[in-house]
Amino acid sequence: MDIKLPSLGKCPLCGATSLKPRYQGIKRYKRSYDVFVCTGCGLGITHPAPDHAHLTNLYSSTSYRDRGGKRFIWPVEAVVRQLRTGRLQKIERLSNKGRMLDAGCGRGLMLAIARDRGWEVVGLEFNAETAAPARDEFGLHVKTGRLSDLGFEKCSFDVITFWHSLEHLEDAVDVVREAAKLLKPGGLLLISAPNFESLQSRMSGPDWFHLDIPFHMYHFSASNIKRLLRSTGLEVVREEHSCLEFNPFGFIQSALNMAGLKHNLLYEILKTGSLRPKGSERADTGDTYITALLLPFVAVASVFFTALEVLVRRGGTVNIYAKKSPLIKERLRKPRKYPRAVGANLFMKQKNHQAKMPD
Ligand SMILES: [Zn+2]
Repeated sequence: MDIKLPSLGKCPLCGATSLKPRYQGIKRYKRSYDVFVCTGCGLGITHPAPDHAHLTNLYSSTSYRDRGGKRFIWPVEAVVRQLRTGRLQKIERLSNKGRMLDAGCGRGLMLAIARDRGWEVVGLEFNAETAAPARDEFGLHVKTGRLSDLGFEKCSFDVITFWHSLEHLEDAVDVVREAAKLLKPGGLLLISAPNFESLQSRMSGPDWFHLDIPFHMYHFSASNIKRLLRSTGLEVVREEHSCLEFNPFGFIQSALNMAGLKHNLLYEILKTGSLRPKGSERADTGDTYITALLLPFVAVASVFFTALEVLVRRGGTVNIYAKKSPLIKERLRKPRKYPRAVGANLFMKQKNHQAKMPD
């Protein structure tokens, strides 16, 4: 049965006003949440959205990251550093090295590596507390607040990235539209996010590790990320369903959650000491032993499962790369030179635009 919720208004992505409940009564941090799905485009929406004061508390240094910005024990941190370098190498294959904005830069590790590789970098974070690790540890230039309020010049970035940050934003759709304006002609926008329509999401339902309520206010699928990017005039140039950093672990933790063990227990164990649950929040010893017992089997299964997800293009998380047409520059500089229909036609056929461009 479709329902209308006045407090949710219309879908920010497609404008539909009708939603279907998918999950109800998910208990997290002593509050209860539902997930609704837009009947128009399939976008998932967490309801109610956590208020600002609650979010500030959730992202505080005692639970989300430690004071140095780290989240995991050292062997995991070493692997994370290698994976961040890999992210940049992919970006550099698709873009000129220039000015980069990382929206939701976290502790700033990727931006720091990018700076060392010759990029001019700017970070964006939720508030002064979450920006502090990137500023203090790496000396990065990190802004806080809403992207549209920061006064960045239009067409001023070569690359803008959202690494698992877009789904955290209450104005996620508007932010991507703003980001598209800030890209230079020919610039690259990257969205990496959990895939709400992935096999592991559908398999584990509310137990899915990457559902991450209430941090995730929206639940995107690959298809509605592409829809969003195309609505801003960008062209999707690459879509990845394979992600070593997030997808196998997403399956492993989701499967353990489905087994009835304490929610996200393995993830908590891998966190750095100061972030682990304390007192009554801690798991009992039995759950920890069962996790250790099941882990080898679930880990082997994750190899096959994530391979299957790639094969059917329903990865647990996805990376979608989109480019802004280099023609935008010409059209902005000389708006009346070409008839409107020709300009629009060229814009739609970006792949061979240079060859087709009239003198
Ligand atoms: Zn919608």
